[in-house]
Amino acid sequence: MSLSPDPRPGQRTAETVSVTVGRRSAYLVVLVVLPLVLLALAVPAAWGWGVGPRDLVIAAVMYSVNIFGIAVGYHRLFTHRSFRCRRPLRVALMLAGGMAVEGPVTLWAAEHRRHHKYADREGDPHSPWRYGESGPALLRGMVHAHVGWFYTARSRSSRAHWVPDLLADPDIRRFDAAYPAVVALSFALPTAVGGLWSMSWQGALSALFWGGLVRYAVVHHVTWSVNSISHTFGDRPFATRDRSSNVRWVAMLTFGEGWHNWHHAEPTCARHGVLKGQLDPSARLIHWFEQAGWATHVHWPTSQRLTAHRIPHGSDF
Ligand SMILES: [Zn+2]
Ligand SMILES: [Zn+2]
Repeated sequence: MSLSPDPRPGQRTAETVSVTVGRRSAYLVVLVVLPLVLLALAVPAAWGWGVGPRDLVIAAVMYSVNIFGIAVGYHRLFTHRSFRCRRPLRVALMLAGGMAVEGPVTLWAAEHRRHHKYADREGDPHSPWRYGESGPALLRGMVHAHVGWFYTARSRSSRAHWVPDLLADPDIRRFDAAYPAVVALSFALPTAVGGLWSMSWQGALSALFWGGLVRYAVVHHVTWSVNSISHTFGDRPFATRDRSSNVRWVAMLTFGEGWHNWHHAEPTCARHGVLKGQLDPSARLIHWFEQAGWATHVHWPTSQRLTAHRIPHGSDF
């Protein structure tokens, strides 16, 4: 997953750059095939030997760190700048999101900013509506939006075009350059904790399997559900130019990201779950950061903006 150089910021840049066969093959293995194999292996492993409380705790902590890192760090802070924060917290959020093994933050944010510009239209890297609206076309589109686009895309979003602000940050450039080490840490950390906790090699290995490998596979599919499920099913109480929607179970698993309709209505808003009963743990965490004085300039929703975007006779506030 090493980075090839993009054109320099400031230059007139194309929106996309081509992807080599080698890189597409790496995406196929790391983002598509390996997580599926691991999830398939997890079933007989859990059935045969079970999964102990130690591994469950390690996996749950790693999962939470990753999902908050992606939702609060990669997505709301770095991609949409919905708040500002001090350097130690920025680096911590970058690291937490990076350990989800979804790529360096500049690549992730570049694809996602292009998704917002073209959502569900020509140019969107991952719309489930790409192949049409009939049943089979939608099914094919959902597979494409979930994981298919990682391999089939012949071009990816140019970082120089979409994220010059991130490329200008030396901490982010250093993080991207060190990304392979971040991935290694994502597996070394649960392994070390499992080994020390149990004081055995067996404990280290089973923590690597559950807290490292299975956890990364689950985190991936939970994240990709926002692209596939939350652009297909669910309700759309706010007016947007796309099919972004709200799906409760996706929102719970992603700590708030599944409240995707308001997010497309106002992408820079720090809160995605804005209606009654829409729990948004990521917004809660940003609120705590703000109270502690670690986050500032938080874009919270206002009732005027909610009303302005609201479709008349939509579901309840
Ligand atoms: Zn979207
Ligand atoms: Zn977004």
